[in-house]
Amino acid sequence: LKTNYKNFPMVPRVIFGAGCFGQLGEILLPKRINSEAPFIFLVDDVFEGSGLISRIPLIFNDQIIFISADEEPKTDQVDALVQKIKNDYDNLPSGIIGIGGGTLLDLAKAVAIMLTNKGNAFQYQGWDLVKKPSIYHVGIPTISGTGAEVSRTTVLLGPEKKLGINSDFTTFDQVLLDPDLTQGVSKEQWFYTGMDCFIHCIESLNGTFLNAFSQSYGEKALELCKEVYLDDLQEDDARNKLMMASWHGGMSIAYSQVGVAHAMSYGLSYLLGVRHGIGNCLVFQHLKEFYPEGVELFNEMKVKHNIRLPKGICGELTNDDFEIMINVALSLVPLWENALGKEWRTIITPEKLRSIYQKI
Ligand code: NAD
Ligand code: ZN
Repeated sequence: LKTNYKNFPMVPRVIFGAGCFGQLGEILLPKRINSEAPFIFLVDDVFEGSGLISRIPLIFNDQIIFISADEEPKTDQVDALVQKIKNDYDNLPSGIIGIGGGTLLDLAKAVAIMLTNKGNAFQYQGWDLVKKPSIYHVGIPTISGTGAEVSRTTVLLGPEKKLGINSDFTTFDQVLLDPDLTQGVSKEQWFYTGMDCFIHCIESLNGTFLNAFSQSYGEKALELCKEVYLDDLQEDDARNKLMMASWHGGMSIAYSQVGVAHAMSYGLSYLLGVRHGIGNCLVFQHLKEFYPEGVELFNEMKVKHNIRLPKGICGELTNDDFEIMINVALSLVPLWENALGKEWRTIITPEKLRSIYQKI
């Protein structure tokens, strides 16, 4: 019997708990190669000047690089960071630590890969193109929802496409989950990034790739999302639960795939730079025919938290613009296959996608 099940990596070490950021120093110490090989901390610049920075356990020639998350990560940004690190030091770093949301986590993963692999980051966008193990890398999320802390991909905007570097070497070697770090997130961003997790669950649980592995994580994540967004939890309880929802949601799609909202959101992001969380929400609200129960729950959550999604995003677009978005969306074949089965092309046509984009 021939089988072809995926043998995918998981994060080998994780620490969870309010305040566990205080243990980062002791976690990193044994991973330090020597005093010349620094740890590089890539940190979301919202934390510049905040108390968190003084808690980063810097020693020897370690370096903090602040990076804005205003734009989604790009392949040339990764290349520039790698070049800077190579210029600044004679030795390869002991490790890369990403502190922030999905943007910073993805940058940390990509930089860790590109420090040991030749060429430019865009050459590795795709599936299993990375040849050499990356350097040690640690993910420390400060906002919950994307699942980037557990996934084997790093999503980058390249010259030709928005696509992940999907590889066994992408996954973090260590993740630190400290729910207290998510305290400063604005309500809108909390909703958008949290809905990324909710949509991961809906797309995974309603997909044709679903199996018991994905289902077990997806159901748990969905249950946690419902508690966080529909019940009235204590704030710290909600923070803990959303962090674990993100983790489980990410695990769920590891062995399945995302679906319609993600495929279309990639198009929006590629053409207009719309960020992942809000882009997913903008699309998902119009997907009742694909995910009826999910969209109903989404609307309930939106109302409960007084979230108003922007309108008219695609109002001024030209035919060419629509074509670009539609082509990006249609190129994500595994997502459509998961959402609608092998015959998805009979359901999803360029006209169909255009009619949905026009509502946004
Ligand atoms: P983000 O990193 O884009 O950050 C969103 C905003 O929240 C930013 O303004 C950031 O500065 C702010 N922020 C983050 N933490 C904060 C805190 N504690 N206090 C105050 N402000 C804070 O957000 P995201 O939604 O987590 O990530 C989106 C990115 O993740 C996209 O680039 C997307 O492609 C990627 N993504 C990756 C995967 C993966 O598996 N690799 C999965 C889903 C999404
Ligand atoms: Zn997502």
